[in-house]
Amino acid sequence: MASERIGHHCAVFGIVGHEAAAYQTYLGLYSLQHRGQESAGIVTADGERTRIHRGMGLVDDVFGPEVLDRLPGRSAIGHTRYSTTGASMQANIQPIRVNVRDGTLAVAHNGNLTNSRPLRARMAAEGAIFQTTTDTETILHLAARSQAELLEDRIVEALAEVRGAYSLLFLSEDKLVAVRDPRGFRPLCLGELDGAHLIASESCAFDILGGRYVREIEPGEMIVFTDGTMTTRRLPPAPQTNPCVFEFVYFSRPDSRIYGEKVDKVRRRLGKRLAAEHPAEADIVISVPDSSNTAALGFAQASGLRFEISLIRNHYVGRTFIQPGQSRRDFDVRVKFNAVEGVIKGKRLVVVDDSIVRGTTSRKLVRMLREAGAREIHLRISSPPVANPCYYGVDIPTHAELIANRMSVEEIREYLEVDSLGYLSLEGLLAAAGEVSPVCDACFSGNYPVPLEKLED
Ligand code: SF4
Repeated sequence: MASERIGHHCAVFGIVGHEAAAYQTYLGLYSLQHRGQESAGIVTADGERTRIHRGMGLVDDVFGPEVLDRLPGRSAIGHTRYSTTGASMQANIQPIRVNVRDGTLAVAHNGNLTNSRPLRARMAAEGAIFQTTTDTETILHLAARSQAELLEDRIVEALAEVRGAYSLLFLSEDKLVAVRDPRGFRPLCLGELDGAHLIASESCAFDILGGRYVREIEPGEMIVFTDGTMTTRRLPPAPQTNPCVFEFVYFSRPDSRIYGEKVDKVRRRLGKRLAAEHPAEADIVISVPDSSNTAALGFAQASGLRFEISLIRNHYVGRTFIQPGQSRRDFDVRVKFNAVEGVIKGKRLVVVDDSIVRGTTSRKLVRMLREAGAREIHLRISSPPVANPCYYGVDIPTHAELIANRMSVEEIREYLEVDSLGYLSLEGLLAAAGEVSPVCDACFSGNYPVPLEKLED
């Protein structure tokens, strides 16, 4: 959510057939930074060998001109990471690269496997040695064990054993393989730049390069690229597809296309439906920036209320320390946001946010708006209550931590100290998602399309 961040997951980017593959990958990752800020990495291939550079921090911290100069090659894959499985440690930074019998193989993964624990336990019992604590490494182990001749056949064999969410990019010395799981949990799209093929989690990564969006990579589709060729094959289909609907609510950038839809359009529809379901007697509509801006605009359009910018977000927040004696109360929120008193004072506000997770930050934000003179606060949430964790690559807290799991909507309203509270209904969310159907909505509905497989007792 805008005011209380759910851990993003990850982003992947790939390019085949470009003289400056590493540099283009750096730019692509730069525009996907919102999906993961803990670490970044790039692997390049020049037909004969692969080269790698990875580090903790933002893309710009990890890559400079000297580093990119040391990554020659016409193909590359890159990754930005927010840890969903595996602690934040150097070894877990992606892409992960390993030696296999005929060279090297690197992988970048967005998603989360639901059977990685039993798979890992089985392989460890058989003698496998793991270098990381990520679920992604299990895929590499499975591919390395395959006796198949072609890389793509080894990957197909490996993927036959894994369950859950994966948008994956593999890179060997002379091939790049892009594959999306048969349910299509996480987005992955195909682009083009001066004859080079591009692959990215979101299409905003193509725009920064001056590239062109071609299409979404379909659930269960695998594309094998060499410098000059592109062939497609299919994994065995799932009973149905389940792209993550939360991408529309919060994760993806509004200037991206995912699942073939423009995020901006869907997000506006969320706001419009929210206005229809939960109208409010108010003077102005404001958003909790940035991820709620578009939904708030939709709400304002549909309700005929004026949209005002009155919460300002500081985009340069790092780890802010607190001086001894300084009050910690609401400090974290004050570091991130400030209210424009002149806009708010004496007004009845509709405040649009995209979701409420624990509720603690929303409460502080409401207090800040009251202190700035808000007369009434009508909080509107452009998604249903988040009541369940995600097993498919998004770091949503446990059941116990989620406020919607412990309290009714009225109890949440009281806790947040707002005059009214309205969540978009699940039907409203699904209707706004439009053509993309069926989707995964498990964190709202509790209907998990793929169960989490635990270790046997
Ligand atoms: Fe997306 Fe929620 Fe499904 Fe996770 S559980 S994939 S966040 S809709």
